[in-house]
Amino acid sequence: MLDTAIIGAGPAGLAAAFALQQRGLPYTHLERNRGVGGLWDIDAPGSPMYESAHFISSKTLSGFPSFPMPDDYPDYPSYKQIYAYLNAFAEHNGLDKAIEFDTAVEKVEKIEGGYRVTRTNGTSTDHAHVIVASGVQWIPNVIDLPGNYTGEVRHTVTYRSPKELEGRRVLVIGAGNSGADIACDAARSADHAVISLRRGYHFIPKHVFGKPADVFADEGPTMPMWLEQRVFGVLLRILNGDPTRLGLPKPDHKVFATHPLMNTQLLHHLGHGDVTARPAIATTSGTTVTFADGTTEDVDLILLATGYHHAVPYAQDLVGDGPHPDFYLTAFSRNPGLYGLGFVETNGAAYVLMEQLAAMIAQHIDDRLRRPERWAEFERTIATDTPDLTRGIRFVDSTRHAGYVDGVAITRYLHRTAKRMGWTIP
Ligand SMILES: Cc1cc2nc3c(=O)[nH]c(=O)nc-3n(C[C@H](O)[C@H](O)[C@H](O)COP(=O)(O)OP(=O)(O)OC[C@H]3O[C@@H](n4cnc5c(N)ncnc54)[C@H](O)[C@@H]3O)c2cc1C
Repeated sequence: MLDTAIIGAGPAGLAAAFALQQRGLPYTHLERNRGVGGLWDIDAPGSPMYESAHFISSKTLSGFPSFPMPDDYPDYPSYKQIYAYLNAFAEHNGLDKAIEFDTAVEKVEKIEGGYRVTRTNGTSTDHAHVIVASGVQWIPNVIDLPGNYTGEVRHTVTYRSPKELEGRRVLVIGAGNSGADIACDAARSADHAVISLRRGYHFIPKHVFGKPADVFADEGPTMPMWLEQRVFGVLLRILNGDPTRLGLPKPDHKVFATHPLMNTQLLHHLGHGDVTARPAIATTSGTTVTFADGTTEDVDLILLATGYHHAVPYAQDLVGDGPHPDFYLTAFSRNPGLYGLGFVETNGAAYVLMEQLAAMIAQHIDDRLRRPERWAEFERTIATDTPDLTRGIRFVDSTRHAGYVDGVAITRYLHRTAKRMGWTIP
């Protein structure tokens, strides 16, 4: 019982498999879908992907460090390109051959010396370690609407194509990146388009002075966070103007205090009157929606862009029942031998962190087998260390931002930790 079970073959599961393979550590890889790529496979049952989706971090800073995105990709690749890239990563490293596809995990339980993993087909295997990499955008957070709305209500997890909006009066609730994208689809395809926002946001352009926004920020001088927030606040006001002139609420927080909203197309469509911004819903009656400011809209389709539950249904008792699984540095459980990958909520690109964290997990597993005293030392760290990874940003008080970390702060901390433990990470 020496091996590691990896659950999921999206980018996180692939990063985990790559890290174990590189160190010659045995593993069993389970994926419920027919292939790799996770949520980027638009045809995977339950995927939240939609046709107009593009990456929101640039290809320059977003690929796995060991396998950069192709040079001929655009700055912000489409969902098809990310799906192809993940398949290429798996094939290039021979990871796909080791995956048991069409194999869903139903339960993970603690047993003497490790964990028992039970599939939905009833078979069980025992493993010393388990890496949970099953993603966080599969279980929709469906909210109840006030009043008695009689039109169609769907969560955006079921949304695929602007064709679904043609000839309809559409209201999108929520202005995360998916909500903003889908409101833009509605602006172009629906008969009438409305977006309802509970709070104001800072809209970050995908390009600043001709460069992808993250490359621009990365190449700029290092500043204390309070100064960075001030400089970017002024820059956004110069570039975007006053958002309230477009009917948007004024942001109630500083730049970077919420997950970046990388979308100025919505401002374009608001400026052209193709979509209308409204505040939170107060009540509904029939197909009429009344908003908090007393305005009304008649809509026949409401799309809930209200996010996802970060649950792990097959191992909830092991990862805790908080808004996000309880993992040290988003990856190391207080239950020895249990790990998570893909749970980092951050303003940076996820795949770099996935490869770094996967390398750390693999080296911790290797320490358990070969250097037990170092393994025990890091287990003590997992149990006691509580680093501040906010870099001084006061993230807004919401479920989404509970446990949210700053990309620069966590990267620095991972490097410092790896150095102390004698590990190498990209
Ligand atoms: C529209 C959109 C845009 C995004 N843009 C960016 C971006 O620009 N930059 C960025 O870094 N991130 C971005 N993300 C974040 C996104 O979460 C990651 O890109 C990534 O797909 C998450 O990888 P993952 O492997 O953790 O999860 P997933 O991609 O969700 O993969 C999880 C896998 O686990 C499998 N699985 C689940 N449950 C089980 C089970 N019980 N048994 C077996 N297998 C199971 C699933 O089938 C799936 O294949 C974006 C997300 C969305 C939706």
